[in-house]
Amino acid sequence: MENVKLTIDGIEVEVPVDYTVLEAAEVAQIDIPTLCYLKNINQIGACRMCIVEIEGMRGFVTSCTQPVANGMVVKTNTPQLIEARKVTMELLLSNHANSCTTCVRNTNCELQALAKKLNVTEIEYEGEKIDMMLDEISPSIVRDPNKCILCGRCVAMCKQVQKVGAIEKMNRGFNTVISGTFNMSLANVNCVNCGQCINVCPTGALSEKDNTKEVWKALQDKDKYVVVQTAPAVRAALGEEFGLPIGTLVTGKMVSALKKLGFDKVFDTDTAADLTIMEEATELIERINNKGVLPMITSCSPGWIKYIEHHFPEQLDHLSTCKSPHQMFGAIIKSYYANKINIDPKNIVVVSVMPCVAKKFEAKRSELSVDGLADVDVVLTTREIARMIKQANIDFVSLSEEQFDDPMGEATGAAVIFGTTGGVMEAALRTAQDLLTGTSVDKIDFTEVRGKEGLKEATVSINGLDINVAVAHGLANAEKVMKEINDGTSKYHFIEIMACPGGCIMGGGQPIHTAKEISSIDIMGLRAKALYDADSASKIRKSHDNPAIKKMYEEYLEKPGSHIAHELLHTTYTKRDLYNK
Ligand code: SF4
Ligand code: SF4
Ligand code: SF4
Repeated sequence: MENVKLTIDGIEVEVPVDYTVLEAAEVAQIDIPTLCYLKNINQIGACRMCIVEIEGMRGFVTSCTQPVANGMVVKTNTPQLIEARKVTMELLLSNHANSCTTCVRNTNCELQALAKKLNVTEIEYEGEKIDMMLDEISPSIVRDPNKCILCGRCVAMCKQVQKVGAIEKMNRGFNTVISGTFNMSLANVNCVNCGQCINVCPTGALSEKDNTKEVWKALQDKDKYVVVQTAPAVRAALGEEFGLPIGTLVTGKMVSALKKLGFDKVFDTDTAADLTIMEEATELIERINNKGVLPMITSCSPGWIKYIEHHFPEQLDHLSTCKSPHQMFGAIIKSYYANKINIDPKNIVVVSVMPCVAKKFEAKRSELSVDGLADVDVVLTTREIARMIKQANIDFVSLSEEQFDDPMGEATGAAVIFGTTGGVMEAALRTAQDLLTGTSVDKIDFTEVRGKEGLKEATVSINGLDINVAVAHGLANAEKVMKEINDGTSKYHFIEIMACPGGCIMGGGQPIHTAKEISSIDIMGLRAKALYDADSASKIRKSHDNPAIKKMYEEYLEKPGSHIAHELLHTTYTKRDLYNK
């Protein structure tokens, strides 16, 4: 592609002709403030913070929308620009909640940080202020329009990346608000609770429903036996909340912190991921051998499940009937484990720490309960557990490392990679090849299903059988594979789908980074590497070799796909229209 040369603040820079001035400034390492900008997703010049002066052009120009040109001379930091940005910020804050000390995003808010940077110490403009109602009836997401700056990042994320379109800019002028479509609550539209909008919101206008109080209450209740389980993606990101570099694996410190918080047992959801693979691989083989519904699609991502229920309700029989790993684990804790320790399951509280806000909705599904007892009582995100650890004044970084509790803390490398796109597929293939051949096959790494590509496919030959598989992450990619199924052109036997781009490591409950960090750091690659490293270092790397799982089948579940396994570990799905909760 043709390059052009331009000068920004006296620095000459050469960039491809399709760059914007803002992108050229990044190359020149010149920082231009932004608020609404989200690289390649939301470049609309709405917030007017990225204004620059360009020789020969009248007025200020938004650098995120302005294409570069040969010989262009740009200034990013004149006194006039500095003043204009400050006035824009004061106008934004004149109709803003400004309740930083009680805001979930205090000290991690792009609006707050930029206001400080622009030296805004008072708001000169006093005008009409609208006090709007919170949208908090969703079990997953809270929307506070009083903290919204109408930047549009959430709308672009939901519409373009996730292809859901559940959140919109409504009304006009001063009355403009961001809300669920048709001015409805997010709980009453086709929102799948993926939380990707939260992760790109620069302010506290979108956040997860906080369930930390319920957990503190349970921990104080002497009659309750409180068990916590943690998903694989949490250990790859929790350290970021305590200033550790992105991609630091903090498994031992996390376990130690949870024990200090007072949980009676700290279990690893990875154990249940191994259980999921046993059930799912068996289900796949059964469908292939008996001409069942194919392709079979994974069912561990609750955002994906809600998406297919709303958008492809006629195709629900393609879903594996397996519950997601933490729900399986909840059911096992309240049956097999409750029997073992002789505690009434009614007195057990299962807390799941997840990278995901959709799991809050999932845990409340009536079908995910046994004999009226919910499998999982409370779901906390990575961010919420970090808040609890900070509240308890635990010095996370200095903690020594501790192990998950037995007997259900044992897990394999196959389970830990569940946290990243392609991981469930790889884990399933490791087990399926051994089950189909009746041997222990040497091949462990299926690199063809790893990596960032939105849609990956492979053909795996096992025992003379060619199994066509696909891996999709992000719902726009899910839509592509579902359209093929709708058209009858899908060539796959087995498909892994994760709602979040990157899989659980990039879930809507993970630590939040600024737009600048998102565009300049390979957050997904670093977190995924942490999990693949943990897999490589594992002594056992195939789910069916996990001794804790073997024992569970021997002592209780009989065999994969047994009647009792179906009662505890499998589920059903619901057809929904675009408004049905
Ligand atoms: S959104 Fe940001 S600026 Fe607004 S109250 Fe919260 S922390 Fe403060
Ligand atoms: S949670 Fe996901 S589906 Fe719901 S509004 Fe946000 S991005 Fe859209
Ligand atoms: S909710 Fe957040 S991301 Fe969406 S427009 Fe408002 S401030 Fe921007």
